[in-house]
Amino acid sequence: MKTNRRPFVAGNWKLHMTLAESAALARKLKAGLARPHEAEVGVAPVATSLHVVSQALEGSGIVVAAQNMHWEDRGAYTGEISAPLLLDAGASHVILGHSERRHVFGEQDEGIRKKLAAALGHGLVPILCVGEQLSDREGGRTTDVVLGQLDAAVDGLEAEPLQTLVIAYEPVWAIGTGRTASPADAQEVHAQIRARLATRFDGRLAESLRILYGGSVKPANAAELLARPDVDGALVGGASLEADTFLPIVEAAG
Ligand code: PEP
Repeated sequence: MKTNRRPFVAGNWKLHMTLAESAALARKLKAGLARPHEAEVGVAPVATSLHVVSQALEGSGIVVAAQNMHWEDRGAYTGEISAPLLLDAGASHVILGHSERRHVFGEQDEGIRKKLAAALGHGLVPILCVGEQLSDREGGRTTDVVLGQLDAAVDGLEAEPLQTLVIAYEPVWAIGTGRTASPADAQEVHAQIRARLATRFDGRLAESLRILYGGSVKPANAAELLARPDVDGALVGGASLEADTFLPIVEAAG
């Protein structure tokens, strides 16, 4: 093992699969991961499937994540789901600030900051996504954008409540496009994120937090990405929708 950080491979199922299909895939993953494996594994089904998936995965050690949440617990917020309700449905983790939330649904840094604080306050493990668009990368703004999103999300928080935080670096131009950041490019940004956590909080927290890479991770490219010292796992979209493509990525993580 390259560090003390346990690798984490999470599948983002996005807006795919019915209740029956989600439960069937969960059962396949449970069976496929019955052998010992080093990585922590998670899946993020659509909200309506959280409960059946968490039931199907009981006893497997596979964790269940929501794909989004609202920062308020209850009230006049039509269409929203709160942290207590996600916990009630069986989720232990929540993806926050996914690029599709930011760029398709217009989520802003301030809302993501409130969601992060609320998730931590309720004991949900946040998977905070950060990442630049192609125009940012081509314009030399990758570091500014990624670290700016990170800074905005953790603004006002101390190191102590952040112990569980998981960060996912997901270059927007690599999500669902078949284009992947090179392992060297991913490593460079992951190292910058870790360095920023060390200066903003402390070195111990920075060394302990897991930074996942996301963006067209497939069985064919997973091992090379995961071998980089600051790449602690993967957030996987398309390839997480079939056990045959997701399980080899988990295996590549150890
Ligand atoms: C994602 O949805 O977070 C993702 C990385 O998708 P894909 O693997 O399909 O690029």
